[in-house]
Amino acid sequence: MIAPGLPMTIAGRLDQVRARIAAACARAGRSPDGVTLVAVSKTHPPQSILEAMVAGQTHFGENRIEEAAEKMAAVNAVAPLPVTWHMVGHVQSRKAHDVAAAFDWVHSLDSERLAARYSRAVADSPSRHGPLRCLIQVNVSGEATKSGFSAWAWRREKSMRDALWDAIGRMIALPGLDIAGLMTMAPVVEDAEQTRPVFAALRGLRDALRPDFPMCGWDALSMGMTDDYEVAIEEGATLVRIGRAIFGERETA
Ligand SMILES: *Cc1c(COP(=O)(O)O)cnc(C)c1O
Repeated sequence: MIAPGLPMTIAGRLDQVRARIAAACARAGRSPDGVTLVAVSKTHPPQSILEAMVAGQTHFGENRIEEAAEKMAAVNAVAPLPVTWHMVGHVQSRKAHDVAAAFDWVHSLDSERLAARYSRAVADSPSRHGPLRCLIQVNVSGEATKSGFSAWAWRREKSMRDALWDAIGRMIALPGLDIAGLMTMAPVVEDAEQTRPVFAALRGLRDALRPDFPMCGWDALSMGMTDDYEVAIEEGATLVRIGRAIFGERETA
């Protein structure tokens, strides 16, 4: 549920989200410039995306290439500002080519097979300028429904740590990919505060990877959605993926 008192317009809701991001940054002693708001527009029409753009929003997230392709073309054709597109959902390997051609960021790099497909797609894609910025999606909560590389027990299980470190080493070596950091999905919980250990765990994993893979940036942490983005920012999120608090409730998932 969205909190009562939600403003009626997309512009009003964006203002409210921006104010909450700024307040969370202030509590954590961070600059709001260090947090990118990705407006997740899945299920919503191009008109809603353009409405958000008029209110200054330029980063948008989609979760299904089938739905996104047409919308993105419609928006790109008339956008008053350059748009940065983020793929946030699970991608099937056979769709990697289309995703690499259309998106600037992929938050959901969740298998080596997909990484190899993206690498090849970047090489084959004449419309792309530069590497595909990727975040490695990890499952730090252990929740069975979450996709991503297994990472919930890397501190105590050497086999899990080795598997993860080896996979990351191989993905980093692929041409055409810029591995910029990590992404996770927190479990759905009653109270946002319960997600704090999950977000802290993502940051802890990132801090452990940084010295072992100094050739990557590792600055990007994509974590936090409508129900928990303030906690995620307090724990170091640099990208928050927010749908409902901006565009309203979705009729379908
Ligand atoms: C839908 C979605 C979001 C946004 O969720 P809200 O709860 O609407 O803010 C964020 N990340 C991913 C991966 C999503 O699929």
